[in-house]
Amino acid sequence: MTGPDDPLERRLLALAKERPDLREAVEAYRVTLPVLRDAAPIAAPVALDGKQVREKISRGEPVLGGCTLRFDRRASRELMLRLARGLFGAGVKGMSRIRRALEEDRLVPAELLRHAVKGNYPFVAKRAEAQVLAPALLWTLAQYALKPALRSWCREIAPLVRFAGAWERSDCYVCGAPASLCELQGNEQAGHLRCGQCGADWPTRRLRCIYCGNEDTESLGVLYPEGRRDSVRVEVCDACRGYFKVIATFAPSSPEELAIEDLSTLYLDGYAQGRGYRRPTA
Ligand SMILES: [Zn+2]
Ligand SMILES: [Zn+2]
Repeated sequence: MTGPDDPLERRLLALAKERPDLREAVEAYRVTLPVLRDAAPIAAPVALDGKQVREKISRGEPVLGGCTLRFDRRASRELMLRLARGLFGAGVKGMSRIRRALEEDRLVPAELLRHAVKGNYPFVAKRAEAQVLAPALLWTLAQYALKPALRSWCREIAPLVRFAGAWERSDCYVCGAPASLCELQGNEQAGHLRCGQCGADWPTRRLRCIYCGNEDTESLGVLYPEGRRDSVRVEVCDACRGYFKVIATFAPSSPEELAIEDLSTLYLDGYAQGRGYRRPTA
């Protein structure tokens, strides 16, 4: 449960106070947090064995790519409806129509999620337009609703993987989403990329661009915005003009903490983008 004693909730409240411009995003995150955390399973396990998982990884293919992902109709409807009600309560514009369409079964959540998980925005947009709903908002809602399923697939798949340099990509080996940030974990400050969608964690070599593989230290740099805490920074590559956010952590962040880290370091994205860097896969 969340409440004033919940450490994530406390961080969100502090963030909303410190960054009034993020208030809406923080509030949306705050109301969805308990719904996502308590969600009943909405999808079946992918049921791959270790050999299948490792073969996909060695081919450079995200594990969920090409899998048949099955969503439970009732549980998907229940979750999307609870999220829509929470976001409507938090004052998200346009959510009341989506909530009503879900209540009246004019949308089929399991079908939306099946397409959303494959990144099929046009399909979701078409369903939204047919019901005169805001397409981007329905897409965002579907992305929220996918999180518990993605996290449980990640929990299923992660123990089957042995890395040893097998995956050097910047997108997630489980779900294919772009890494949301790089953590320097533990006393050794070992580099790990983290996926904000499913929570996956995979090792990355330091002093190497995560996008283009450039290892020439002359063209790799670090940006530190002035007056900010030094446990966060941006690393940039002048070969591909890519950037990524780096945070030092003692223990790996939970998927929920990752989302808050990403949100509370949005100023770093603005800072890097203002200097002409971008996130190539985002
Ligand atoms: Zn992922
Ligand atoms: Zn690069």
